[in-house]
This record gives sequence, structure tokens and C-alpha cells, in this order.
Amino acid sequence: MVYKTSEQRYDTMVYNRCGKSGLKLPAISLGLWHNFGGVDTIENGRAILHKAFDSGITHFDLANNYGPPPGSAEEMFGKIFKQDLAPYRDEMIISTKAGYTMWDGPYGDWGSKKYMVASLDQSLKRMGLDYVDIYYSHRFDPETPLEETMEALHLIKQQGKALYVGISNYRPDQTNNALKILKQLGTHCLIHQAQYSMFERWVENGLLDVLDNEGVGLIAFSPLAQGLLTKRYLDGIPADSRAAKPQTFLDKEDVTAERLKQVRALNDIAGERGQSLAQMALAWLLKDTRVTSVLIGASSVAQLEDNLKTLNSPKFTGEELNRIETILAG
Ligand code: NDP
Repeated sequence: MVYKTSEQRYDTMVYNRCGKSGLKLPAISLGLWHNFGGVDTIENGRAILHKAFDSGITHFDLANNYGPPPGSAEEMFGKIFKQDLAPYRDEMIISTKAGYTMWDGPYGDWGSKKYMVASLDQSLKRMGLDYVDIYYSHRFDPETPLEETMEALHLIKQQGKALYVGISNYRPDQTNNALKILKQLGTHCLIHQAQYSMFERWVENGLLDVLDNEGVGLIAFSPLAQGLLTKRYLDGIPADSRAAKPQTFLDKEDVTAERLKQVRALNDIAGERGQSLAQMALAWLLKDTRVTSVLIGASSVAQLEDNLKTLNSPKFTGEELNRIETILAG
């Protein structure tokens, strides 16, 4: 069957300007780190992508190594893109990254120009694209001169293989240096992709200020703490959950009694606000206008639907915010 998107797709989504740039991103973006690999079913991936695009999610985030196995998320995305989404390419912001281990030998990891350029060529092939919208250096490389990694991003932008460039997981001082080098080369850094959730708040210690001063957007990854900030683990660890699956970065041991105590207390506040915990956790991030977008994952259409309702969130009262801080400090 030929996919046709919804004519109402732009009716409810909110679009935020990404730093000082011409680009707006949806308040909720979709990441394909999990659930789109060779170990997953394409029909589920397709249903999630359709639901996302039909709901105004225009931004899809990938990386060379997403799967498992590495590369397979880009391949699955490429298949679905070719079959269903290609007519809408100009309505989509597709990103990918390089920085983690991808292939054997000295040129398949970290931040050399050799790796960054070759990896994007491979990603474009896997996805069947002529260009990506955003290309990221996935992590700071302590051994490669930062100038070289930034020069690679600049080159790729000059070649038109990426329209914008970004960095991910760079600390505030590393970010400052990267932005300076890019500026000297004549390339603006569009965006920083960093882990940010109620349970992981390192960006509040300097990074958000650096980005705000320099007109760079922030997209918050793992905003639901990989599922901890939802009702997923309230009644135990489901067999089909990320914590139960092999080859993930969430372990059963991460679902501790102390965490669950916090999750239950937060869930109570969400209930009083008339929303799910997932919605409250996302709304809590988006209340800061320096956060351009929250980059969620979803293993089902139902989860995505739940998360999309974040857009109808009531404003937080001072009292609610204080109660949340007390729980998070506990
Ligand atoms: P989240 O914190 O949103 O976690 C997503 C997981 O939470 C889902 O797979 C699902 O887990 C569970 N979940 C989501 N919504 C609900 C819901 N409403 N109810 C119950 N459970 C829910 O984000 P991710 O950790 O998946 O990261 C998102 C994206 O961020 C990635 O796809 C990637 O694009 C990016 N990222 C970037 C990194 C970087 O270094 N730059 C690192 C990590 C991520 P379950 O599978 O158990 O159902």
C-alpha cells in the first residue's frame, strides 16, 4: 500500500528555533538508536515512523552505529524512507553522527578527518540519501586535534553532504573550543546533542549557558532516562523492556529500589497534573526555552502517542517544581 501522510500533520506540533539559525525543530524529535535495528521488525519501525511524521515530527536522528548490529538502523530507515517517505524529503530533518567504534582498524572510530568523511559516505549509502540535514561529531576525541575534527565537519558542509553541523557529548570547555574553531572556519555550529533528563542534569552546570551565549540549540537525548521516567518499570521489569534486553545501556541493576521510589513520587505529581509521567518528564525539560527539542525513543506507536500528548501539558506551578526538586534531591 502506498503511504500517504496526514493532512493534519502540522496542526498540533510546536516548532522551536534552533539557537540563532534559520532552522526550526519540532519540540519532540524521534531517535532511532533502539527499536530500528537488524534485531527489530521493520513493520513496527515503519508504524512508529508513520505515526511520528503524521504527527508533525519532522526530525529523525540516527548515527552510523545504531542497531544492533551497527549500521542496521540506517539501513532500516533507508528502506522505509525509500518506500514511504522519499516524497517528503524536503519536510524532513535527518541527522547522523560518527564518533564511536564503527569498523576495524585505526580509521573506524573517534574524530579523524579520515573517519568522519568516510563514515558519512557510508551512512548516506545505507540511508539512500544525497545529503543529511545535520552531521554530528558524536564525541570529543582527546587524541585528535580538535581543529581536524571541526575541519572535517566544515569540509562536509562545504561539500553539501550535510546542511548543518553539530557536536554531541562535548563538555562545556570542549564545546567552547569547538565553536570557536568552527566560527574561524566560517561554519556555525547549529546544535549540541546532550543527555538531559530529570535524572541526568549535567548540562545545567555550564553547557546550557555556553550554548545560549553562542546561539547554539540543545537537543536533549534520553529525556525519559531510557524509560525509567515512565510507568514502564512500576510493576517490575517487563520481558520486552530495554532493561531486560541484551546489548543495551540500561541494565536490570539500574532499576533500583531508590530509583523506583523517586519514580513513584514523580508519577503521583504527574497524576495530579492529569498527565502521564512520561509527559511530565518531557514537559519539565521543554519549559526551559534553551532546550530546542526533546529526542525521544519509542518501542511502540502507543508510547509515541503518549509522549506526543506532552504538547498539551499544563504549566508547572512553583509548588510542583519545588516538590519535583525535593524528590530528585532525595
Ligand atoms: P528515551 O529516554 O526517550 O527512552 C526511550 C525508551 O523509553 C523507549 O525505547 C521505551 O523503552 C521507553 N518509553 C518511551 N516512551 C514511553 C512511554 N510513553 N511509556 C513507557 N515507556 C516509554 O530515549 P532513548 O534513550 O531511546 O534516546 C533517544 C534518542 O536519543 C536515541 O534514539 C538517539 O537518537 C539519541 N541518543 C543519542 C546519544 C548520543 O550520544 N548522542 C546517546 C543516546 C541516545 P522500551 O524499549 O523498554 O519500551
